[in-house]
Amino acid sequence: MENNKEMRAWLNNFNLPHPLVIAGPCSAETEEQVLKIARELKDSKVSVFRAGIWKPRTRPGGFEGVGEIGLKWLQKAKAETGLQMAVEVATVAHVKLALEHDIDILWIGARTTVNPFAVQEIADALQNTDKIILVKNPVNPDLALWIGGVERLYNANIKNIGVIHRGFSTYEKTKYRNNPEWQIAIDFQNKFPDIPLLIDPSHITGNRDMIFQVTQEALDLNYDGMIIETHIDPDNAWSDAAQQVTPTQLKKIIFDLTIRKQTDDADDYQQKLNKLRHKIDDYDTKLLETIGKRMKIAEEIGALKKEKNVAVLQNKRWNEILEKMIQNGHEKGLSEAFIIQFFKAIHQESITHQERIFNK
Ligand code: PEP
Ligand code: MN
Repeated sequence: MENNKEMRAWLNNFNLPHPLVIAGPCSAETEEQVLKIARELKDSKVSVFRAGIWKPRTRPGGFEGVGEIGLKWLQKAKAETGLQMAVEVATVAHVKLALEHDIDILWIGARTTVNPFAVQEIADALQNTDKIILVKNPVNPDLALWIGGVERLYNANIKNIGVIHRGFSTYEKTKYRNNPEWQIAIDFQNKFPDIPLLIDPSHITGNRDMIFQVTQEALDLNYDGMIIETHIDPDNAWSDAAQQVTPTQLKKIIFDLTIRKQTDDADDYQQKLNKLRHKIDDYDTKLLETIGKRMKIAEEIGALKKEKNVAVLQNKRWNEILEKMIQNGHEKGLSEAFIIQFFKAIHQESITHQERIFNK
């Protein structure tokens, strides 16, 4: 899949603004609920209405979606409000029904993206479509699997493709429902800068109080839009109650967001930026020089250990270094997580260098 400017063009071709805002309930519940929410989102920054019609639930017994009847409600909501309609599809049957009901945007959910067979069947069913198809990241932090899903659509001659970053499962509980792992989305964006990237702060946070902050972070990283679960009565929603916001709360979130430009041509901005970037480049060079020197010392230590037949790994010393550096880092405003990652990488590289000496 080569980079292809056409892929970004759908935002314009479909007359969609930047940033794109998709909003609506986790699940369509009743006709009245769908119409009420859609009416409140009409004439706002929202261009697309989302609603789950078939709900993939982690365990059986929960509400699994209203099914086909919900598509009729969406058609009504579209006729009344002019909002475009988006639903999740997970099977060929879903695709057929969504197309029959002229749904505008189809998205592939995180639990489907993990399964290449399922994605391939969906891609085959959508072959040559002009609809917009969005691919959520898989639940597991696997960039190749996400890219693979997009490639299957691309190879089926589907041109209007976008991706949704909805975070990744972790076994250990964190403050997020699904850990954002921003680097994975940034890597995707670097590799395919022409595929629009949307943030799903609802499924990342699982908590309506964190929606604004995560969305702002995404806009700061040049994302193209957002998909935010919005419900008329969030606390009584049939699924994902804790993360949904009301239409009024959504409008406030959108109003408060700072939309960043990709760049600014003004001379003084460019000059200031260039100066600061030079400084960063200088520090990066110094950093590498310092680390290179540190490795040379590690090699000398390696030679010494070899001579005395002492083991490379000295746990006590390593723990002392780490503790001291966490303390030092703290004073410089560097997070403990960063210090640990940074020094683990340096330590690993030192060990590699020492082993090279040992094996000489
Ligand atoms: C959803 O958008 O309602 C949904 C099920 O999301 P995900 O596939 O990200 O879990
Ligand atoms: Mn949901």
